[in-house]
Amino acid sequence: MPTEPPRTPSEIARETLRRLALQRVAPTPDNYRAYYHEIAGIAAEDTFPERSLKLIANALPRETPEAVRLAHGFENAVSARQWPALKQSILALCSRNDASVTNWALLIRETLTQLERPHKGWTSAKKRESLEHVLNVSGSAQHLPARLQGLLKNWAESGASSEMPTTTDDTLNGVTKSTHTIDDSAAELRLLIELLQQLLQRGVVPLIVDNDALSAEIVDLSMRLSDPFRLASTPELGDNVHLLASKLELAGEYERAIRSALIGLIRLIVDNISELVSDDSWLSGQINLLSVAFQGSLDIRMLDEVERRLRDVIDKQGHLKRQLDEAQIRLKRMLSGFVDQLAELSDSTDQYHTSLERCATEIAAAGSLEELANVIEGVLEDTRSVRETARRSSSQLSALREEVETANRQIARLQQELDETSELVRHDALTGTLNRKGLDEALEREIARARRRGAPMCLTMLDIDNFKHLNDTFGHRTGDEALKHLAEVIRTFTRPQDMVGRYGGEEFLILLPDTEIDAAVQATVRLQRELTKRFFLAENQRVLITFSAGVARIDPDEDPYSAIDRADKAMYAAKRAGKNRVLVAG
Ligand code: GH3
Ligand code: MG
Ligand code: MG
Repeated sequence: MPTEPPRTPSEIARETLRRLALQRVAPTPDNYRAYYHEIAGIAAEDTFPERSLKLIANALPRETPEAVRLAHGFENAVSARQWPALKQSILALCSRNDASVTNWALLIRETLTQLERPHKGWTSAKKRESLEHVLNVSGSAQHLPARLQGLLKNWAESGASSEMPTTTDDTLNGVTKSTHTIDDSAAELRLLIELLQQLLQRGVVPLIVDNDALSAEIVDLSMRLSDPFRLASTPELGDNVHLLASKLELAGEYERAIRSALIGLIRLIVDNISELVSDDSWLSGQINLLSVAFQGSLDIRMLDEVERRLRDVIDKQGHLKRQLDEAQIRLKRMLSGFVDQLAELSDSTDQYHTSLERCATEIAAAGSLEELANVIEGVLEDTRSVRETARRSSSQLSALREEVETANRQIARLQQELDETSELVRHDALTGTLNRKGLDEALEREIARARRRGAPMCLTMLDIDNFKHLNDTFGHRTGDEALKHLAEVIRTFTRPQDMVGRYGGEEFLILLPDTEIDAAVQATVRLQRELTKRFFLAENQRVLITFSAGVARIDPDEDPYSAIDRADKAMYAAKRAGKNRVLVAG
């Protein structure tokens, strides 16, 4: 008998379980669902996985309003159990995912760009700090894009500044005062960079000799400083600078070594020559000068002056030497003439002897008085001729002797002139005042004298004010005239026992024996006054020459050169204080 098909859900459920058992099918939910639908006679309908879909909905990103909107759409579709709506929502989420992949790339690129770009109020250090913060607090990628975008917006809203290279701001940390505005710091930093560039290009590069590669490296570094963006993206800059500093140090050491080797060589040569020429006073004058110039540290001004004076002396000495050589050649010629005369005399004497011997033989052999008379006549003739030769030789010899004496006198005079020329090296050729060597000798002499007598002694170091300007305006020759003018005024208005010397280009040192400091200052101020009264004429214009001076008393046990040093410092202090004044050395 056919059974009634089950009609109620519980009947269908019971029948389903029965069939599963009967057919030995595993009672899994899927199998149960399939048998159930078959028994009920309805199409198998998919179940809606609401719980799983809600879990997915919870995990959806909501970092942007757009993302939130899509997540809501998904949730609503799940709640409404509507597959078509769910499908739409998933498609929307997928297309958004595509966009967000592109956004990541854009976002990273934009972050890098904005990090390097200057923004008012944002130093690169601050930017890096804020970026670090955002990265730290955004553990997952979920909130990172929104936060990054927020940060970039923040930077951008502060406004871009084209002036400020923010990248090296941290260099200024601790240097700039907190009261400084960012603009102040930017200006200071820019100035600092410019100064640094000048220092590198105009200060360091010219010091490098014969090392083009190193010069190029420094120029390159300097150029890189002009470009803050490039600088920021050059993390190895610090290493480069360290490396460059080491190279410079090495180059400097090398130059110093060459320099001291050269000086050593020159000193050796000068010492050797001065030993060789110790009895040749005109040459030793020059050599002494060289020796003084190379004793202390080298000073280009001093070397210039040495060269100028040496040239002068060498010219004069060259001229005198030529004259001396000519005189000596003349003397040699005369001596050889004298020797010829002697030879001639001795020749004629020899002939006379021979003729006398011949005569004696003829006299012995003479047979008659007439023969004898002939012989005597011959002898007398020979005697007359010999006497004549002797007389001529004698007068020639005395003439020669006179010439030799004249030549000797001339040689002695020339020699003396040469010695005097050598003396010139104790005086400055231009102004006629003592030069450094002359000053040294005078100082030594006067100090010894003052110490012997327990007398005070002072010195004044003075330097013409703005002399370069005078040279530039009227030319070097007029500058020379001005130096002569000053020297003349100093000579005229100092006491006879005071000594004046040219210490350098336009620097003069005055030694004031038996003088206390107050009187020395007064004497120097008097010179200033006299100089303002006596105008110097340059191209028919009255030019006022002034000087700045430092006055020092040489203490009893003091090294006079340290007193010169003190006076020099006081003179420079007078320059700094406004020039045309006299200061006492400390
Ligand atoms: P300051 O007031 O600071 O001393 O300035 P200044 O111009 O006097 O000093 P500076 O050292 O700048 O220039 C000195 C000049 O003196 C430069 C140099 O050419 C010039 N000079 C040095 N020796 C001589 C010389 O024998 N004759 C001439 N005409 N000029 C000289
Ligand atoms: Mg000067
Ligand atoms: Mg000077």
